[in-house]
Amino acid sequence: MFGNQNVRPNKYGINDRLPCPNCKMTMLLGRRTLHSTLTGFEVQAFNCKKCGNEIERVIDVDGNAPD
Ligand SMILES: [Zn+2]
Repeated sequence: MFGNQNVRPNKYGINDRLPCPNCKMTMLLGRRTLHSTLTGFEVQAFNCKKCGNEIERVIDVDGNAPD
């Protein structure tokens, strides 16, 4: 039975690993805070242990980015 292929939609998860834009090192999710104005969204901050770079992204509970 090969019916259920586990096709993963393009969603964000808390276990995501993002490549650092600077040094390509894997960035780890370091902080999650509720978005101040977008209800149901949170801000996730990723830190690079190698170069100290930090990036943020905004997603909702289902892993969707706002428009
Ligand atoms: Zn880096």
